[in-house]
Formats: sequence, structure tokens, C-alpha cells
Amino acid sequence: MFKHIESIIYYLDFSISTFQLTMRLIFFLKNTFILHFTFSLFVLPTSSWSQQTSFKIDEERIELQLKRLSLFGMNEKGGNDRVAFSDYDLEARAYLTTYLTELGLDVTVDAAGNLLARKAGKNPDLKPIAFGSHIDAVPNGGHYDGDVGVIGAIEVLETLIENKIETAHPLELIIFSNEEGAIFGSRAIAGKIDEETLEGKTASGYTNGEGILRLGGNPEKVMEVKRTQDDLHAFLELHIEQGNILHKNKIDIGVVEGIVGLNWWDVEITGKTNHAGTTPMNDRQDAMLAAAQFVLAVNDIVTEMEGAQVGTVGRINAFPGAPNVIPGKVVASLELRDLDAEKITLLFNQISKKAIAIGEETNTEFTFIPLDATAAPALTDTRIQEIIRQNAAQLGYTHKTMPSGAGHDAQDMAVITPTGMIFVPSVNGISHAPDEYSSPEAIAKGVNVLLLSILSLDTTDFK
Ligand SMILES: [Zn+2]
Repeated sequence: MFKHIESIIYYLDFSISTFQLTMRLIFFLKNTFILHFTFSLFVLPTSSWSQQTSFKIDEERIELQLKRLSLFGMNEKGGNDRVAFSDYDLEARAYLTTYLTELGLDVTVDAAGNLLARKAGKNPDLKPIAFGSHIDAVPNGGHYDGDVGVIGAIEVLETLIENKIETAHPLELIIFSNEEGAIFGSRAIAGKIDEETLEGKTASGYTNGEGILRLGGNPEKVMEVKRTQDDLHAFLELHIEQGNILHKNKIDIGVVEGIVGLNWWDVEITGKTNHAGTTPMNDRQDAMLAAAQFVLAVNDIVTEMEGAQVGTVGRINAFPGAPNVIPGKVVASLELRDLDAEKITLLFNQISKKAIAIGEETNTEFTFIPLDATAAPALTDTRIQEIIRQNAAQLGYTHKTMPSGAGHDAQDMAVITPTGMIFVPSVNGISHAPDEYSSPEAIAKGVNVLLLSILSLDTTDFK
């Protein structure tokens, strides 16, 4: 315990000196001592995992590790600025590298800047079971997005090591590089990186190529990190939900059925610019009026269809943009997301049909320009979904099968290996903000399910 506090204070001395942050730390330390409890989970023998009688994950250790990680990049607003490739990112990785090495794991960095920690299995001929997430944040983000999956995965490894449990498959923790900026590391493993991605600027100011070099990667060899189904047995990611379904409905575990695909369009609405004082109401070609009807139509069409699809008009610009001029042109955005690419097409067809009708009514014209932000839906493996459900049920946790509306490293891993994803509740659904929070109890449940699911995967034959 004192070692932990010393390092926090050590870090604080060098990096953070504001009164506000000091108060936060004192509050945290007080909580740690006052609420000194250990959550223990005793896993009873099951038919598939019968050689040991009991072992536990350590809820308090997870909480402490998350707090320690949060200090790398914590800002004065209480948020986190640990954007990919920043000094904070490098410092946090150095800390985790030391920690993982001291656990006796084989720690390396691949050419894409992914941090890998391997634990040998009993059968070296078997493919590794991979699991992990990311530690980079959006600017002024929170302390749980990605971090929970990484710290949870480390806790799983530490628990197995402490209890001298050896899996048949090798285990491989992956801390992916630049998830928030480009989903870089996992896309590299899936073989989806090109020169353009390497040249892309990131929030740190570095390009992806420069950034992975800072992490110990090698842009020239980034294509070599590509893996196939021959290289991995399965992949699991634990993550906060970043939405409010689990928290609102008091459900412990989300079993992710897939990461939704998304399509973007620019919607250009052309009318006629004219004098707002002299043009009668019945003689206008008001592009803004058409846009207003369009926004409502998108909401109606997306809402009326059964399912969990979402549709958003998030940006709108009127031209020329003066109070006394009827807008002759509006450029809006349209985003549609669903697990089923065909459904996105179906929704788009209905929306564009309605747009033609609005255009006729308002004497304007709609043009849809597809944008390059398209992401295909990625489905998780139904057998792994069932493993997660069964393990959650065995532990007495409530669970719900649901799509992920946000993008994750798992979406690219799903292309190359059977993949599963476990969600824990985000309080009030807040994410990518300093207020992002998941309780230690909620996180511990997710880590328990992750642990059992990794052990289940060890005895699962996917052929
Ligand atoms: Zn994330």
C-alpha cells in the first residue's frame, strides 16, 4: 500500500501541482483507507475448470490501479488528456510495462505500437487467447474508457499468476495504440492500415507514423503486424458501455452482439436566395424550411422502424447565413448506425424518398453525398456471447445482449478471430468527459466475467 502511495506522490510532485488536484488525491487516499474492503469472488469448480478449488480477483487492487493510471494525464478539470502518443501516453505505458514485467510476463511492443504482454500456456502449440483494450483518451476525456479493459485484463493475469493457474493456451494482453484517434493498433493487426493512415495527424500533434515510433513501434514494418485466424484462438474486450442502457435498467453485464456500422452523408439542399422582407411567404424556395422538415423526417423514419438503429442530423449550415436573407442553400449531415448494413441502406432509401417529397413541397432540391466515414458493422461471435452470458449467470449477475453504438478495437479483431465484448455500466451513460464513471463493484463484476470467459475459451474448440 505504501509503495503505491509513494509512487502517486512521486508522480504528483513532478507532474501535477495544483491545489485542486492535491485535494482530489487526498480525497482518494482517504477513501482508500476508510473504505478499506476487499471484494472476493470464490469460483467454484465447474466441469470445464475443475482442477482448482477457489481463487479471487481483487476489487480494491483494480480500483487502486485505475486511480494510478488516471494520474497520467489528469488535468485541472479532473478529466484526462492522455491522448495517443502524448508524453502522458508514453509515461503510462512505461509504468504498465514495468508492472507487467514484474509480474513475470513477456512484454514487447509490436511495429504498430501495441503493447503486448504474454503468459505462456501449457501447450505452446495452441494459439493465444488475446484480450485487452486501450489507454489513450480523447482530449479532456474520462478515466474509464479503455482503462477499465486494460486494468481488468491485468487483474485477470495477476489473479491467474497468484493462484498458479496455467491455461492450456498462451494468454496475450494487448494494449492497442491510438484507439481514440484512428483505431490504429487493432486495425494494423487486422491488416487495415495504409500509407494514408500513417500520415494522418493525431490530437498529440504527431502523425500516426511519428506516434508509433514514439511508442517503440516501426512505421516501416507496420504491415507485418497483420494477423489472421491462424494466429489467435479468440479475442475478448472488457469496456464501459458509454451509454445509459445498463445503468438505467440496473443491469450488471452487457453482452455485446456487435459494434454497429455507420454511414455519413452530406445533405445539400438547394433553394433560392432572396430578400426576406419583399418575398411573400408563398413564393419562397427556403432551403432552411426544407432542412427543418428533413430533420424531423429523419427522426420519424428511424424511430418508427423496429430495432436499435439510430439516426442523427448533427450539423447544419445555412447560406448565405443572414437574418434578412432567405437561405438559398443548406448543408446538413446525416449519420445512420445499425448492426445490419442492409438496414442502414433500407433507412437511407426511405429517408431519401421522403427528401424528394419535401423538396417538391418546398420547391427545393436534395442531394446526398456519401462521406468516407463508413464503417461496416462488426458482429461478435455468437458462441462467445453464450460463454459470457453463462458466466454472468453463474456468478449471479444480470445481463443483457446489446449492440455497441460506439467503435472499439474489438470491431477490427472480430474480422480476424472469434471475438467477444463485455460491457459494464457507465453511470448516467456519460463518456468522453471528465464525469465518466463506473463503480468499483460494477467493474469488478465485469472483470470476474472476463476471467471466467477466458477460462471458458481455453476449453472451447472453435472448429
Ligand atoms: Zn474505448
